[in-house]
Amino acid sequence: MPRNVPIERSRNIGIIAHIDAGKTTTTERILYFTGVSHRLGDVDDGTAIMDWMIQERERGITITSAATTCSWQDHRINIIDTPGHVDFTMEVERSLRVLDGAVIVFCGVSGVEPQSETVWRQAERFQIPAIAFINKMDRQGADFSRTVSMIRDRLGIRPAPLQLPLGSADEFEGIIDLIEMRAVRFDPGSEDRRIEIGPVPEQLQQAAELARQELIETAVECDDELMAAYLDGVPIPSGRLRQALRLGTIARKIMPVFCGSAFRNMGIQPLLDAVVALLPSPADLPPVSGSWSGQPDARQATDSESLSALAFKVMNDPHVGQLTFLRVYAGSLQSGDRVLNPRSGKRERIGRLLRMHANKREEIDAIYAGDIAAAIGLKAVITGDTLCAEERPILLESIRRPVPVVSVAVAPQSRADTDKLGASLAKMAQEDPSFTVVTDPETNEVIISGMGELHLDIVMDRLLREFRVPISAGPPQVAYRETLTAPAELNYRHSKQTGGRGQFAQVMLRIEPAPDGGVMFESRITGGAVPREYIPAVERGVRRALDEGALARFPIVDVHVTLLDGAFHEVDSSDLAFETAGFYAVREMARGARPVLLEPIMALDIIVPDGFVGDVIKDLGSRRGRIKGMETRTGSSVIAALLPLGESFGYTTVLRSITQGRAVYSMQFSHYEQLSPALAEPVVRARSQANRSHE
Ligand code: GDP
Repeated sequence: MPRNVPIERSRNIGIIAHIDAGKTTTTERILYFTGVSHRLGDVDDGTAIMDWMIQERERGITITSAATTCSWQDHRINIIDTPGHVDFTMEVERSLRVLDGAVIVFCGVSGVEPQSETVWRQAERFQIPAIAFINKMDRQGADFSRTVSMIRDRLGIRPAPLQLPLGSADEFEGIIDLIEMRAVRFDPGSEDRRIEIGPVPEQLQQAAELARQELIETAVECDDELMAAYLDGVPIPSGRLRQALRLGTIARKIMPVFCGSAFRNMGIQPLLDAVVALLPSPADLPPVSGSWSGQPDARQATDSESLSALAFKVMNDPHVGQLTFLRVYAGSLQSGDRVLNPRSGKRERIGRLLRMHANKREEIDAIYAGDIAAAIGLKAVITGDTLCAEERPILLESIRRPVPVVSVAVAPQSRADTDKLGASLAKMAQEDPSFTVVTDPETNEVIISGMGELHLDIVMDRLLREFRVPISAGPPQVAYRETLTAPAELNYRHSKQTGGRGQFAQVMLRIEPAPDGGVMFESRITGGAVPREYIPAVERGVRRALDEGALARFPIVDVHVTLLDGAFHEVDSSDLAFETAGFYAVREMARGARPVLLEPIMALDIIVPDGFVGDVIKDLGSRRGRIKGMETRTGSSVIAALLPLGESFGYTTVLRSITQGRAVYSMQFSHYEQLSPALAEPVVRARSQANRSHE
């Protein structure tokens, strides 16, 4: 089954923007003009196509990412939905990771706002080439050239306008195409969205000539060959000019600039032409890299390569169950294929494959290198997993998955909703691996944990709106851990005689601190002092006790437990007796092994514009932050710091107010560190009080 669109004619793009710049409207219009959507859904009356969740609409932010396919000029364009909000680091990463190019939408009135700087910095981290669409040119106060200057100054990239606006505000009627030197007018009223091509108006002739000259100079600087021809005075044909601009765009030397009014259906077709002409195809990019058995490996984007695909989004679908969005980097994937998940070592069979369009789902037989589609029925695949050929495994770099470090206790407002709450939370945890749910065995509270405050806010919001489970929730809590700082040894005998068969087990255990070692269990039993079949039961008891903690009911980590000796009884010993012995032995020993609290420390990268650096550093100092390094760029500095999680609650707001919203940060879990006794004491006290109030 051959592919129907060659890789060179594929585009995987994201449309990214600061909230309110017009991302939703632009996306909708793109889907409309590419003929997929046959109805214009206006954001304002709430029928937009790309918005999947009600809450997204109300908050004005996009929190899920999926992919929608459309086509333009014999090219296949996959639009990957990207969140517009900076706090969803993992959502942003998972979508930016799989796209090859971006359309950045700016509002022509407000220009490059701090939030648009933020999205650009994120795209920059992933080295994503981009073109700019200056939207809302129909609004009073829209200013094309000012926005172009702001792109240069604020984003630090060379803007390359390929258009000039034709008229402004109420008079905005179209664009001047600087490559073809012609006027393009749009008729917002006409049913078929007609375009009228004409000569450049007299009064704009000079401005257009100047702008075109500048564009040519920008283009030749991106292309040595063309530079030579240009210096020799050879005229440059349009196609050749576009080719040079394409090189410059892909190398991220320039950001081509377009304009229009999405709301009034103006400028969309030329923007789509630009996506096709200037943004890279998967074949234009370096091979995807990964590793296997400790050896680095890379795969070229060709169909004949071994399969290398990334599951970048797992979501629950009301119609088909679990939908797994896949990007195939190399090779091809047919429905019915067996593939390997190198993380789990499990093999899975690919069920049906779907291509998602704005208004329909198309069943397809295969996905080829560079393409994106959704698979139904992959059970054990989570976001960030690689799927590859069994005979030639590769593990692609996973999407960074933060350790859940913040917890909130939730309870249904009505007891009747208890089961529904559990089922809804389980569904969300499957979609989003950075989110976990546990029931506290002591208090019976349902504890949800995630990567940040806002992350959990969204989960709780979805519970109410999507799953219709009203809940009450406690304040955010740091997910501490415990560890032991001294070794201990104990010979523990569990013996019970209550008529009938008794219970007997004796274990001699040693517990020792093992920094960064997780939890290790080892048996040194020789000669059957504890029969082999009971040893797993001892381990179960040991682990259960460690999970309960010794100080404040946080799990104990980084310890090594050794079973040294023991005794059994022919009749009275059992799995249960040995598990109980292991449990109580550890519980008793751990309390005497100087337990301490460990707190999550977050690694913080902050991009701070000049002028705010001192204030940001001072503030970090006041919240137990430590500066690890600093790097200066033009106009800004990048501060790398460590910050205890408990001090990071509300940091988005803090940073926004210190820097007038101009700084950008990303934060992720780094490691655990021992909490000083003075700081640990109130945590321990609060936990034991909480415990009592539940008893
Ligand atoms: P998003 O938050 O970036 O997705 O922005 P939306 O697409 O939801 O647009 C935000 C608001 O701006 C909505 O009220 C739109 O109707 C309006 N809007 C979007 N594009 C244009 C435009 O080209 N001109 C005008 N005048 N308004 C627009």
